[in-house]
Amino acid sequence: MKDIDIVIIGGGPAGLAASIAAKDEGIENILILEREAQLGGILNQCIHNGFGLHTFKEELTGPEYASRFIDKVNDHKIPYLLNTTVLEITKDKIITAVNEDGIIELRAKAIILAMGCRERPRGAINIPGSRCAGILTAGAAQKFVNIEGYMPGKEVVILGSGDIGLIMARRMTFEGANVKAVVELLPYSSGLKRNVVQCLDDYNIPLKLSHTIINIKGKDRLEGVVISKVDENKQPIKGTEELISCDTLLLSVGLVPENELSKNAEVNLSPVTGGAIVNESLETNIEGVFACGNVLHVHDLVDNVSLESSNAGRCAASYVKDDKRSGEYIKVSGAQGVRYTVPSLINSSKVNNSTTIRFRVGEVFKENYVSLYFDHTRVMLVKKKILSPGEMEEIKVTKVLLNKYSNCKEITIKIEKE
Ligand SMILES: Cc1cc2nc3c(=O)[nH]c(=O)nc-3n(C[C@H](O)[C@H](O)[C@H](O)COP(=O)(O)OP(=O)(O)OC[C@H]3O[C@@H](n4cnc5c(N)ncnc54)[C@H](O)[C@@H]3O)c2cc1C
Repeated sequence: MKDIDIVIIGGGPAGLAASIAAKDEGIENILILEREAQLGGILNQCIHNGFGLHTFKEELTGPEYASRFIDKVNDHKIPYLLNTTVLEITKDKIITAVNEDGIIELRAKAIILAMGCRERPRGAINIPGSRCAGILTAGAAQKFVNIEGYMPGKEVVILGSGDIGLIMARRMTFEGANVKAVVELLPYSSGLKRNVVQCLDDYNIPLKLSHTIINIKGKDRLEGVVISKVDENKQPIKGTEELISCDTLLLSVGLVPENELSKNAEVNLSPVTGGAIVNESLETNIEGVFACGNVLHVHDLVDNVSLESSNAGRCAASYVKDDKRSGEYIKVSGAQGVRYTVPSLINSSKVNNSTTIRFRVGEVFKENYVSLYFDHTRVMLVKKKILSPGEMEEIKVTKVLLNKYSNCKEITIKIEKE
Protein backbone atom coordinates (compact mmCIF):
# COMPACT_ATOMS: atom_id res chain seq x y z
CA MET A 1 0.00 0.00 0.00
CA LYS A 2 1.44 3.35 -1.07
CA ASP A 3 0.75 6.58 0.87
CA ILE A 4 -0.24 9.60 -1.24
CA ASP A 5 -1.26 13.05 0.04
CA ILE A 6 -3.93 13.75 -2.60
CA VAL A 7 -5.33 11.17 -5.01
CA ILE A 8 -7.42 12.61 -7.84
CA ILE A 9 -9.82 10.25 -9.57
CA GLY A 10 -10.33 11.34 -13.18
CA GLY A 11 -7.98 13.25 -15.47
CA GLY A 12 -10.58 15.44 -17.24
CA PRO A 13 -10.65 19.23 -16.89
CA ALA A 14 -11.82 18.92 -13.28
CA GLY A 15 -9.03 16.59 -12.17
CA LEU A 16 -6.39 18.56 -14.08
CA ALA A 17 -7.36 21.95 -12.59
CA ALA A 18 -7.62 20.47 -9.09
CA SER A 19 -4.17 18.89 -9.32
CA ILE A 20 -2.51 22.12 -10.54
CA ALA A 21 -4.10 24.17 -7.72
CA ALA A 22 -3.09 21.61 -5.07
CA LYS A 23 0.49 21.61 -6.36
CA ASP A 24 0.53 25.44 -6.38
CA GLU A 25 -0.45 25.26 -2.69
CA GLY A 26 2.73 23.28 -2.02
CA ILE A 27 1.47 19.67 -2.02
CA GLU A 28 4.12 17.52 -3.70
CA ASN A 29 2.71 14.03 -3.28
CA ILE A 30 -0.23 14.03 -5.73
CA LEU A 31 -1.42 11.29 -8.09
CA ILE A 32 -4.05 11.49 -10.86
CA LEU A 33 -5.70 8.19 -11.85
CA GLU A 34 -7.31 8.13 -15.32
CA ARG A 35 -8.99 5.13 -16.93
CA GLU A 36 -8.53 6.33 -20.53
CA ALA A 37 -5.29 6.25 -22.53
CA GLN A 38 -4.92 10.07 -22.36
CA LEU A 39 -5.72 12.98 -20.06
CA GLY A 40 -8.41 15.51 -21.02
CA GLY A 41 -11.68 13.67 -20.34
CA ILE A 42 -14.74 14.35 -22.50
CA LEU A 43 -12.98 17.36 -24.07
CA ASN A 44 -10.97 15.01 -26.30
CA GLN A 45 -14.07 14.26 -28.37
CA CYS A 46 -15.42 17.85 -28.40
CA ILE A 47 -13.60 19.12 -31.48
CA HIS A 48 -15.92 22.10 -31.95
CA ASN A 49 -14.83 25.51 -30.65
CA GLY A 50 -16.41 27.58 -27.88
CA PHE A 51 -14.29 26.42 -24.95
CA GLY A 52 -12.35 28.73 -22.68
CA LEU A 53 -14.02 32.05 -23.54
CA HIS A 54 -13.93 33.07 -19.87
CA THR A 55 -10.65 31.46 -18.80
CA PHE A 56 -8.45 32.32 -21.78
CA LYS A 57 -10.61 34.95 -23.56
CA GLU A 58 -10.20 32.80 -26.67
CA GLU A 59 -12.43 30.36 -28.53
CA LEU A 60 -10.62 27.07 -28.23
CA THR A 61 -11.64 23.56 -29.26
CA GLY A 62 -12.05 20.98 -26.50
CA PRO A 63 -8.67 19.30 -27.13
CA GLU A 64 -6.93 22.74 -27.27
CA TYR A 65 -8.50 23.75 -23.94
CA ALA A 66 -7.49 20.42 -22.38
CA SER A 67 -3.95 20.67 -23.71
CA ARG A 68 -3.39 24.00 -21.89
CA PHE A 69 -4.06 22.19 -18.61
CA ILE A 70 -2.21 19.00 -19.59
CA ASP A 71 0.87 21.12 -20.41
CA LYS A 72 0.65 22.71 -16.96
CA VAL A 73 0.33 19.30 -15.29
CA ASN A 74 3.48 18.23 -17.12
CA ASP A 75 5.31 21.50 -16.29
CA HIS A 76 4.35 21.05 -12.63
CA LYS A 77 5.63 17.44 -12.83
CA ILE A 78 2.37 16.12 -11.37
CA PRO A 79 2.37 12.31 -11.64
CA TYR A 80 -0.51 10.47 -13.31
CA LEU A 81 -1.36 6.92 -14.27
CA LEU A 82 -3.27 6.35 -17.52
CA ASN A 83 -5.30 3.25 -18.45
CA THR A 84 -5.91 2.94 -14.72
CA THR A 85 -9.47 2.41 -13.51
CA VAL A 86 -10.39 3.03 -9.89
CA LEU A 87 -12.50 0.10 -8.70
CA GLU A 88 -13.19 1.14 -5.13
CA ILE A 89 -12.68 3.86 -2.58
CA THR A 90 -13.47 3.47 1.11
CA LYS A 91 -14.41 6.05 3.70
CA ASP A 92 -10.94 5.53 5.21
CA LYS A 93 -9.62 6.83 1.90
CA ILE A 94 -8.15 3.54 0.67
CA ILE A 95 -8.22 3.41 -3.13
CA THR A 96 -8.13 0.24 -5.19
CA ALA A 97 -7.37 0.61 -8.89
CA VAL A 98 -6.39 -1.69 -11.71
CA ASN A 99 -4.20 -1.34 -14.79
CA GLU A 100 -2.15 -3.63 -16.97
CA ASP A 101 0.41 -4.05 -14.18
CA GLY A 102 -2.28 -5.42 -11.85
CA ILE A 103 -4.05 -4.16 -8.73
CA ILE A 104 -2.86 -0.93 -7.09
CA GLU A 105 -3.68 -0.01 -3.48
CA LEU A 106 -3.23 3.52 -2.21
CA ARG A 107 -3.88 5.23 1.13
CA ALA A 108 -4.70 8.93 0.64
CA LYS A 109 -4.83 11.82 3.09
CA ALA A 110 -7.38 13.45 0.75
CA ILE A 111 -9.29 12.29 -2.32
CA ILE A 112 -10.71 14.51 -5.05
CA LEU A 113 -13.59 12.93 -6.93
CA ALA A 114 -13.44 14.14 -10.56
CA MET A 115 -15.02 11.26 -12.49
CA GLY A 116 -17.32 13.35 -14.69
CA CYS A 117 -20.73 12.12 -15.79
CA ARG A 118 -22.32 9.70 -18.24
CA GLU A 119 -25.30 9.95 -20.59
CA ARG A 120 -28.72 8.60 -19.75
CA PRO A 121 -29.32 5.72 -22.14
CA ARG A 122 -32.56 4.91 -23.95
CA GLY A 123 -33.60 2.36 -21.30
CA ALA A 124 -33.77 5.15 -18.74
CA ILE A 125 -36.59 6.85 -20.64
CA ASN A 126 -38.57 3.81 -21.82
CA ILE A 127 -39.50 4.62 -25.43
CA PRO A 128 -41.84 1.91 -26.72
CA GLY A 129 -41.11 0.17 -30.03
CA SER A 130 -38.50 -2.13 -31.48
CA ARG A 131 -34.92 -2.48 -30.29
CA CYS A 132 -33.33 -2.13 -33.73
CA ALA A 133 -29.86 -0.88 -34.71
CA GLY A 134 -29.38 2.84 -35.28
CA ILE A 135 -30.23 4.13 -31.81
CA LEU A 136 -27.37 5.52 -29.77
CA THR A 137 -26.57 8.32 -27.36
CA ALA A 138 -25.38 11.62 -28.81
CA GLY A 139 -22.08 11.34 -26.93
CA ALA A 140 -21.44 7.85 -28.34
CA ALA A 141 -22.16 9.21 -31.84
CA GLN A 142 -19.77 12.09 -31.15
CA LYS A 143 -17.03 9.63 -30.27
CA PHE A 144 -17.70 7.56 -33.42
CA VAL A 145 -17.61 10.60 -35.71
CA ASN A 146 -14.87 12.70 -34.10
CA ILE A 147 -12.48 10.04 -32.80
CA GLU A 148 -13.12 6.73 -34.58
CA GLY A 149 -14.05 8.27 -37.97
CA TYR A 150 -17.36 6.39 -38.47
CA MET A 151 -20.71 7.89 -39.53
CA PRO A 152 -23.52 6.26 -37.56
CA GLY A 153 -26.20 7.13 -40.19
CA LYS A 154 -27.55 9.54 -42.80
CA GLU A 155 -31.13 10.45 -41.86
CA VAL A 156 -31.11 11.59 -38.29
CA VAL A 157 -33.58 12.50 -35.55
CA ILE A 158 -32.33 13.71 -32.20
CA LEU A 159 -34.33 13.29 -29.02
CA GLY A 160 -33.50 15.91 -26.41
CA SER A 161 -32.15 19.42 -26.91
CA GLY A 162 -29.35 19.27 -24.36
CA ASP A 163 -26.00 20.69 -25.47
CA ILE A 164 -24.63 17.40 -26.74
CA GLY A 165 -27.74 16.85 -28.90
CA LEU A 166 -27.52 20.38 -30.32
CA ILE A 167 -23.82 20.09 -31.06
CA MET A 168 -24.30 16.71 -32.72
CA ALA A 169 -27.12 18.08 -34.91
CA ARG A 170 -24.60 20.50 -36.41
CA ARG A 171 -21.78 17.95 -36.51
CA MET A 172 -23.86 15.34 -38.37
CA THR A 173 -24.94 18.07 -40.82
CA PHE A 174 -21.28 18.98 -41.46
CA GLU A 175 -20.60 15.32 -42.21
CA GLY A 176 -23.37 15.19 -44.82
CA ALA A 177 -26.27 13.76 -42.81
CA ASN A 178 -29.81 15.12 -43.05
CA VAL A 179 -30.87 16.04 -39.52
CA LYS A 180 -34.65 16.03 -39.76
CA ALA A 181 -35.59 17.31 -36.32
CA VAL A 182 -34.54 17.79 -32.73
CA VAL A 183 -37.46 16.66 -30.57
CA GLU A 184 -37.76 18.17 -27.08
CA LEU A 185 -40.31 17.19 -24.44
CA LEU A 186 -40.12 20.53 -22.64
CA PRO A 187 -41.49 23.83 -23.97
CA TYR A 188 -37.90 25.19 -24.07
CA SER A 189 -34.47 23.86 -25.01
CA SER A 190 -32.45 22.38 -22.16
CA GLY A 191 -29.20 23.52 -23.80
CA LEU A 192 -27.38 26.83 -23.95
CA LYS A 193 -29.13 29.54 -26.00
CA ARG A 194 -25.98 30.08 -28.08
CA ASN A 195 -25.98 26.40 -29.07
CA VAL A 196 -29.63 26.58 -30.24
CA VAL A 197 -28.72 29.50 -32.50
CA GLN A 198 -25.35 28.26 -33.75
CA CYS A 199 -26.21 24.57 -34.13
CA LEU A 200 -29.90 24.54 -35.20
CA ASP A 201 -31.10 27.94 -36.40
CA ASP A 202 -28.02 28.55 -38.58
CA TYR A 203 -28.64 25.23 -40.38
CA ASN A 204 -32.46 25.38 -40.51
CA ILE A 205 -32.79 22.28 -38.35
CA PRO A 206 -36.31 22.22 -36.83
CA LEU A 207 -36.58 22.20 -33.04
CA LYS A 208 -39.86 20.52 -32.09
CA LEU A 209 -40.59 21.80 -28.58
CA SER A 210 -43.28 20.10 -26.42
CA HIS A 211 -42.93 16.93 -28.51
CA THR A 212 -41.80 13.41 -27.73
CA ILE A 213 -41.18 10.12 -29.52
CA ILE A 214 -44.00 7.67 -28.93
CA ASN A 215 -42.93 4.80 -31.19
CA ILE A 216 -39.87 3.41 -32.90
CA LYS A 217 -40.28 1.72 -36.30
CA GLY A 218 -37.90 -0.78 -37.86
CA LYS A 219 -36.86 -4.40 -37.49
CA ASP A 220 -33.11 -4.82 -37.93
CA ARG A 221 -32.35 -1.15 -38.62
CA LEU A 222 -34.29 1.93 -37.56
CA GLU A 223 -36.75 3.08 -40.26
CA GLY A 224 -38.57 5.90 -38.52
CA VAL A 225 -39.88 7.42 -35.32
CA VAL A 226 -43.40 8.52 -34.49
CA ILE A 227 -43.47 11.83 -32.68
CA SER A 228 -46.38 13.49 -30.95
CA LYS A 229 -47.14 16.82 -29.28
CA VAL A 230 -47.41 16.71 -25.48
CA ASP A 231 -49.75 18.58 -23.15
CA GLU A 232 -48.70 20.57 -20.07
CA ASN A 233 -48.42 17.26 -18.14
CA LYS A 234 -46.00 15.98 -20.79
CA GLN A 235 -48.57 13.44 -22.01
CA PRO A 236 -48.88 12.78 -25.78
CA ILE A 237 -51.90 14.50 -27.39
CA LYS A 238 -53.97 12.11 -29.52
CA GLY A 239 -54.26 13.09 -33.19
CA THR A 240 -50.91 14.95 -33.31
CA GLU A 241 -48.81 11.91 -34.29
CA GLU A 242 -46.32 12.33 -37.15
CA LEU A 243 -43.99 9.72 -38.67
CA ILE A 244 -40.47 10.89 -39.46
CA SER A 245 -38.46 8.41 -41.51
CA CYS A 246 -34.85 8.11 -40.36
CA ASP A 247 -32.11 5.53 -39.97
CA THR A 248 -30.55 7.01 -36.84
CA LEU A 249 -31.89 8.25 -33.53
CA LEU A 250 -29.52 10.09 -31.23
CA LEU A 251 -30.50 10.39 -27.57
CA SER A 252 -29.51 13.48 -25.66
CA VAL A 253 -31.76 13.01 -22.68
CA GLY A 254 -29.61 14.05 -19.78
CA LEU A 255 -26.37 13.39 -18.00
CA VAL A 256 -25.87 11.54 -14.73
CA PRO A 257 -22.87 12.17 -12.43
CA GLU A 258 -20.67 9.07 -12.30
CA ASN A 259 -21.00 8.33 -8.59
CA GLU A 260 -20.92 4.55 -8.12
CA LEU A 261 -17.53 4.80 -6.38
CA SER A 262 -18.78 7.62 -4.16
CA LYS A 263 -21.93 5.67 -3.18
CA ASN A 264 -19.89 2.65 -2.09
CA ALA A 265 -17.74 4.94 0.04
CA GLU A 266 -20.95 6.21 1.74
CA VAL A 267 -20.69 9.72 0.32
CA ASN A 268 -24.10 11.40 0.71
CA LEU A 269 -25.59 12.24 -2.69
CA SER A 270 -28.18 14.85 -3.64
CA PRO A 271 -31.38 13.32 -5.07
CA VAL A 272 -31.68 16.38 -7.36
CA THR A 273 -28.19 16.58 -8.92
CA GLY A 274 -27.02 12.99 -8.38
CA GLY A 275 -23.75 14.53 -7.15
CA ALA A 276 -22.28 14.70 -3.65
CA ILE A 277 -23.69 17.06 -1.03
CA VAL A 278 -20.77 19.39 -0.30
CA ASN A 279 -19.81 22.35 1.88
CA GLU A 280 -18.12 25.61 0.83
CA SER A 281 -14.80 23.73 0.49
CA LEU A 282 -16.47 21.23 -1.88
CA GLU A 283 -15.88 18.61 0.82
CA THR A 284 -18.39 15.77 1.11
CA ASN A 285 -19.80 14.30 4.34
CA ILE A 286 -16.59 12.24 4.51
CA GLU A 287 -13.77 14.40 5.82
CA GLY A 288 -10.97 14.75 3.30
CA VAL A 289 -13.09 13.59 0.32
CA PHE A 290 -13.78 16.45 -2.11
CA ALA A 291 -15.80 16.55 -5.36
CA CYS A 292 -15.74 18.88 -8.38
CA GLY A 293 -16.73 19.15 -12.02
CA ASN A 294 -19.45 17.06 -13.62
CA VAL A 295 -19.32 14.38 -10.94
CA LEU A 296 -20.56 17.05 -8.51
CA HIS A 297 -23.22 18.63 -10.74
CA VAL A 298 -23.52 18.79 -14.51
CA HIS A 299 -21.88 21.93 -15.93
CA ASP A 300 -22.48 23.49 -19.31
CA LEU A 301 -19.26 25.53 -19.40
CA VAL A 302 -15.87 24.01 -18.87
CA ASP A 303 -14.59 27.37 -17.54
CA ASN A 304 -16.82 26.87 -14.48
CA VAL A 305 -15.52 23.32 -14.12
CA SER A 306 -11.95 24.61 -14.04
CA LEU A 307 -12.75 27.39 -11.53
CA GLU A 308 -14.67 25.10 -9.21
CA SER A 309 -12.02 22.38 -9.41
CA SER A 310 -9.13 24.75 -8.67
CA ASN A 311 -11.03 25.61 -5.51
CA ALA A 312 -11.41 21.90 -4.67
CA GLY A 313 -7.65 21.46 -5.19
CA ARG A 314 -6.83 24.38 -2.88
CA CYS A 315 -9.24 23.13 -0.19
CA ALA A 316 -7.86 19.58 -0.38
CA ALA A 317 -4.36 21.06 0.01
CA SER A 318 -5.40 23.01 3.14
CA TYR A 319 -7.01 19.86 4.52
CA VAL A 320 -3.78 17.93 4.04
CA LYS A 321 -1.91 20.80 5.75
CA ASP A 322 -4.14 20.17 8.79
CA ASP A 323 -7.03 22.55 8.24
CA LYS A 324 -9.61 20.06 9.51
CA ARG A 325 -13.38 20.50 9.68
CA SER A 326 -14.62 22.53 12.63
CA GLY A 327 -17.29 25.07 13.54
CA GLU A 328 -20.95 25.58 12.69
CA TYR A 329 -22.53 25.19 9.28
CA ILE A 330 -25.18 27.35 7.65
CA LYS A 331 -27.61 25.37 5.48
CA VAL A 332 -27.86 26.58 1.86
CA SER A 333 -30.83 25.70 -0.34
CA GLY A 334 -33.01 26.81 -3.25
CA ALA A 335 -36.74 27.57 -3.17
CA GLN A 336 -39.39 29.12 -5.45
CA GLY A 337 -38.00 27.99 -8.80
CA VAL A 338 -34.43 27.18 -7.74
CA ARG A 339 -33.83 23.43 -8.19
CA TYR A 340 -30.57 23.07 -6.30
CA THR A 341 -27.55 24.89 -4.96
CA VAL A 342 -23.90 23.88 -4.72
CA PRO A 343 -22.72 24.00 -1.97
CA SER A 344 -25.45 22.91 0.45
CA LEU A 345 -23.53 24.02 3.53
CA ILE A 346 -21.28 26.98 4.38
CA ASN A 347 -18.93 27.31 7.31
CA SER A 348 -18.27 31.05 7.39
CA SER A 349 -15.00 30.61 9.27
CA LYS A 350 -13.63 28.84 6.17
CA VAL A 351 -14.56 31.66 3.80
CA ASN A 352 -11.79 34.16 3.04
CA ASN A 353 -13.21 37.02 0.94
CA SER A 354 -16.27 35.40 -0.61
CA THR A 355 -17.76 32.07 -1.60
CA THR A 356 -19.67 31.23 -4.79
CA ILE A 357 -23.06 29.50 -4.73
CA ARG A 358 -23.92 27.90 -8.10
CA PHE A 359 -27.54 27.01 -8.88
CA ARG A 360 -30.02 26.13 -11.61
CA VAL A 361 -33.65 27.10 -12.00
CA GLY A 362 -36.36 24.52 -12.78
CA GLU A 363 -38.16 26.46 -15.55
CA VAL A 364 -37.74 29.57 -17.73
CA PHE A 365 -38.23 32.92 -15.92
CA LYS A 366 -38.32 36.26 -17.75
CA GLU A 367 -37.75 39.66 -16.08
CA ASN A 368 -37.52 38.15 -12.60
CA TYR A 369 -35.25 38.67 -9.61
CA VAL A 370 -32.81 36.32 -7.95
CA SER A 371 -33.04 37.02 -4.24
CA LEU A 372 -30.79 35.88 -1.45
CA TYR A 373 -32.18 35.41 2.05
CA PHE A 374 -30.26 35.05 5.29
CA ASP A 375 -32.94 33.34 7.39
CA HIS A 376 -35.98 35.58 6.72
CA THR A 377 -34.05 38.73 5.75
CA ARG A 378 -33.60 39.47 2.07
CA VAL A 379 -30.00 40.65 1.65
CA MET A 380 -29.59 40.70 -2.12
CA LEU A 381 -31.84 41.22 -5.14
CA VAL A 382 -30.53 40.85 -8.69
CA LYS A 383 -32.73 41.51 -11.74
CA LYS A 384 -32.40 38.92 -14.54
CA LYS A 385 -33.75 39.34 -18.06
CA ILE A 386 -33.96 35.59 -18.46
CA LEU A 387 -33.23 32.55 -16.32
CA SER A 388 -33.31 29.14 -17.95
CA PRO A 389 -32.64 25.58 -16.70
CA GLY A 390 -29.97 25.17 -19.40
CA GLU A 391 -27.76 27.92 -17.97
CA MET A 392 -26.05 27.60 -14.62
CA GLU A 393 -26.26 30.73 -12.45
CA GLU A 394 -24.08 31.88 -9.61
CA ILE A 395 -24.16 34.31 -6.74
CA LYS A 396 -21.23 35.47 -4.62
CA VAL A 397 -21.67 35.63 -0.85
CA THR A 398 -19.11 37.90 0.76
CA LYS A 399 -17.38 37.43 4.09
CA VAL A 400 -18.70 40.89 5.06
CA LEU A 401 -22.27 39.63 4.63
CA LEU A 402 -21.55 36.40 6.51
CA ASN A 403 -20.06 38.40 9.40
CA LYS A 404 -23.01 40.82 9.44
CA TYR A 405 -25.50 37.95 9.80
CA SER A 406 -23.30 35.75 11.94
CA ASN A 407 -26.30 34.11 13.69
CA CYS A 408 -27.86 33.03 10.39
CA LYS A 409 -28.88 29.35 10.27
CA GLU A 410 -30.10 29.12 6.69
CA ILE A 411 -29.31 30.82 3.37
CA THR A 412 -31.98 30.52 0.67
CA ILE A 413 -31.96 31.56 -2.99
CA LYS A 414 -35.37 32.27 -4.53
CA ILE A 415 -36.77 33.56 -7.81
CA GLU A 416 -39.21 36.40 -7.22
CA LYS A 417 -41.30 38.69 -9.40
CA GLU A 418 -40.08 41.71 -7.46
C1 LIG B 1 -20.71 17.00 -26.08
C2 LIG B 1 -20.26 18.04 -25.12
C3 LIG B 1 -20.10 19.33 -25.58
C4 LIG B 1 -19.65 20.33 -24.73
N1 LIG B 1 -19.47 21.60 -25.23
C5 LIG B 1 -18.95 22.56 -24.43
C6 LIG B 1 -18.64 23.89 -24.97
O1 LIG B 1 -18.88 24.17 -26.14
N2 LIG B 1 -18.08 24.79 -24.13
C7 LIG B 1 -17.83 24.49 -22.84
O2 LIG B 1 -17.32 25.34 -22.11
N3 LIG B 1 -18.14 23.26 -22.31
C8 LIG B 1 -18.68 22.28 -23.06
N4 LIG B 1 -18.95 21.05 -22.54
C9 LIG B 1 -18.81 20.81 -21.09
C10 LIG B 1 -17.41 20.35 -20.62
O3 LIG B 1 -16.77 19.65 -21.63
C11 LIG B 1 -17.59 19.48 -19.41
O4 LIG B 1 -18.32 20.22 -18.49
C12 LIG B 1 -16.24 19.06 -18.79
O5 LIG B 1 -15.54 18.25 -19.70
C13 LIG B 1 -16.43 18.27 -17.49
O6 LIG B 1 -15.17 17.98 -16.93
P1 LIG B 1 -14.95 16.81 -15.87
O7 LIG B 1 -13.49 16.71 -15.65
O8 LIG B 1 -15.84 17.01 -14.71
O9 LIG B 1 -15.49 15.49 -16.58
P2 LIG B 1 -14.91 14.65 -17.81
O10 LIG B 1 -14.37 15.53 -18.88
O11 LIG B 1 -15.98 13.69 -18.17
O12 LIG B 1 -13.68 13.84 -17.16
C14 LIG B 1 -13.86 12.80 -16.22
C15 LIG B 1 -12.69 11.84 -16.34
O13 LIG B 1 -12.77 10.88 -15.29
C16 LIG B 1 -12.38 9.62 -15.79
N5 LIG B 1 -12.92 8.56 -14.93
C17 LIG B 1 -14.23 8.34 -14.64
N6 LIG B 1 -14.36 7.29 -13.80
C18 LIG B 1 -13.11 6.84 -13.56
C19 LIG B 1 -12.58 5.75 -12.78
N7 LIG B 1 -13.38 4.94 -12.08
N8 LIG B 1 -11.26 5.59 -12.75
C20 LIG B 1 -10.42 6.42 -13.43
N9 LIG B 1 -10.86 7.45 -14.20
C21 LIG B 1 -12.19 7.65 -14.26
C22 LIG B 1 -12.97 9.62 -17.20
O14 LIG B 1 -12.32 8.69 -18.04
C23 LIG B 1 -12.72 11.06 -17.65
O15 LIG B 1 -11.50 11.23 -18.31
C24 LIG B 1 -19.38 20.02 -23.38
C25 LIG B 1 -19.58 18.72 -22.91
C26 LIG B 1 -20.00 17.73 -23.76
C27 LIG B 1 -20.20 16.32 -23.22
